[in-house]
Amino acid sequence: MMNQLAPLDVIAVGAHPDDVEIACGGTLAKLVRQGYRVGIIDLTDGEPTPGSPGPHVRLAEAERAAHTLGVHVRVQLGLSNRRLFDTFEARVALGKELRKYRPKLVLGFGEKTPLASPDHWQAMQITDAAVFYARLTKWDDYFDGLPVHTVSAQLYFTLAFSSLELPTAAGHLVVDIGDTLETKLASIRCYATQFPPAKEYIYRRVEAVALHQGAAAGFPAGELFASPRTLGTRDLLHFLFGQTPADQPQKPDVR
Ligand SMILES: [Zn+2]
Repeated sequence: MMNQLAPLDVIAVGAHPDDVEIACGGTLAKLVRQGYRVGIIDLTDGEPTPGSPGPHVRLAEAERAAHTLGVHVRVQLGLSNRRLFDTFEARVALGKELRKYRPKLVLGFGEKTPLASPDHWQAMQITDAAVFYARLTKWDDYFDGLPVHTVSAQLYFTLAFSSLELPTAAGHLVVDIGDTLETKLASIRCYATQFPPAKEYIYRRVEAVALHQGAAAGFPAGELFASPRTLGTRDLLHFLFGQTPADQPQKPDVR
């Protein structure tokens, strides 16, 4: 089968529609503004939930949220909410999407969420496996003949307010979302069935976490990620300051 889809730079994987918005919506909106091609994959439709009349309403909310963030693709994978398990079939289903869209970077769950849905932890296992499966040769039968794809980098996110503990990882980093925090909050507001007026405090919590995580890195607001690999750089000043000499106007060196 020919792979006809335009590749994405980044794919964020959530268990339920709204996971990705809460965990890294500001980063996704920022990447879109910076010109990268960004996609979201929801492993399940997130339904049933207490406040939603049904999957069609949740799907419409997810589409509005995707539009708010500006992402290019949102895939609903159709696995079972509340019964999401790290199975071979789930791994292959997500692996196929990674082979189709060929992202350089995958963002996904990095920890358990005790007292909340166990689907999140299963989503982490499925995502880890799918990133690996996407690059395995001599296995094309399972992947509809889609060509193999090596994901170059993977970062873990955390659902904002579950714990003070950071996911165990070789490295942590904060993305500056100072200019997309409002967009992130707007994308979460698209889920009216999940966050009715009685849960208005959610938005203050999300904002508080973003302000806290941003302050830790000297930004107006931020989102925290954990890297399974120690982070390195080939350009120290670019890493520290986000600029290379080519970005700056060259002034003659007059003495
Ligand atoms: Zn969730």
